[in-house]
Amino acid sequence: MADVDVLIVGAGPAGLAAATSARRVGATVRVLEAFDESGGQFWRHLPATRPAGNEPRLHHQWQRYQQFRSAVDADPALTLDVGAHVWAIEHRDDAVRVNVVCGDVDGTGRRRESVTANSLILATGAHDRALPVPGWTLPGVVTAGAAQAMAKGERIAIGDRVVIAGAGPFLFPVTESLRLAGSTVVGVYEAAGFRRLARHWLARPWELRSATTKMTELAGYFGTHLRGRIPYRPGWGVVAINGTGATTGSTVNGLLWAALGAGVVLVIGLAGWLIARGRRPAKSQSNTHL
Ligand SMILES: Cc1cc2nc3c(=O)[nH]c(=O)nc-3n(C[C@H](O)[C@H](O)[C@H](O)COP(=O)(O)OP(=O)(O)OC[C@H]3O[C@@H](n4cnc5c(N)ncnc54)[C@H](O)[C@@H]3O)c2cc1C
Repeated sequence: MADVDVLIVGAGPAGLAAATSARRVGATVRVLEAFDESGGQFWRHLPATRPAGNEPRLHHQWQRYQQFRSAVDADPALTLDVGAHVWAIEHRDDAVRVNVVCGDVDGTGRRRESVTANSLILATGAHDRALPVPGWTLPGVVTAGAAQAMAKGERIAIGDRVVIAGAGPFLFPVTESLRLAGSTVVGVYEAAGFRRLARHWLARPWELRSATTKMTELAGYFGTHLRGRIPYRPGWGVVAINGTGATTGSTVNGLLWAALGAGVVLVIGLAGWLIARGRRPAKSQSNTHL
């Protein structure tokens, strides 16, 4: 007999939603999360041991996360293990066996465990994908996801003056978080042109009806751009980053931009570069009042 009906890997929005859905139909559920907090990337937040002054400020639908958390805390048939890293999955005749190592990544007291389950849900999320251009390894150039993780998970503003470039809607939340963390965003460059954007966003407009919260979120991002007077330029992509920082340790000192045809480069699901200028990230720059 399996240890649990449904085993879920990842406690981001998808994993938490799957867990509560499975509980609604009476399944026993266990969620394994590698990070030391649940919430995934979308609700990445400061740990309870050093809470933020105003955590919801950097999040959308924070209340929804709290509802998920309360559901997990109140339900003995739904277990959430954080600091539990799944490293191998084996198929058994009538169940799957999931191998997990639990405990602090650098700790000495890590323990291994194997859990069997009738059903397995992988909700391990996405990761940054960056297309290399000349200069992309210079100090001061980071992926949009890394900048977002530092802003939300540590309250670090990656730089004083920041240019955000890449493709896709992810550029919007990154812009908002960086502004809230204290950066000045001097421009957002979206590789896809207006026509391409419209073709994707408006391909099946009736489907947007079921995404009202996302539409509200999008409206908020437009507000951020307007309030901060942040230029948003579709159809522009980075072709090179000029700087001398690689050996001197200084930050990027110049940019070369070129107008590109719609989506010639950088048109991939979750891609972005973020180019910071003026200061290097350090713990001391944490914006802890957020
Ligand atoms: C760095 C980064 C930042 C992002 N920030 C935002 C944002 O601010 N706003 C936004 O709208 N979108 C953001 N995104 C896009 C994001 O992927 C989705 O919005 C949303 O978080 C996806 O939810 P999810 O539950 O599918 O995955 P995630 O939220 O990514 O959750 C997956 C979880 O699985 C865990 N996990 C992965 N592998 C294992 C393993 N082997 N064992 C155990 N646990 C594992 C991870 O630790 C993570 O907590 C971000 C993406 C990235 C890569």
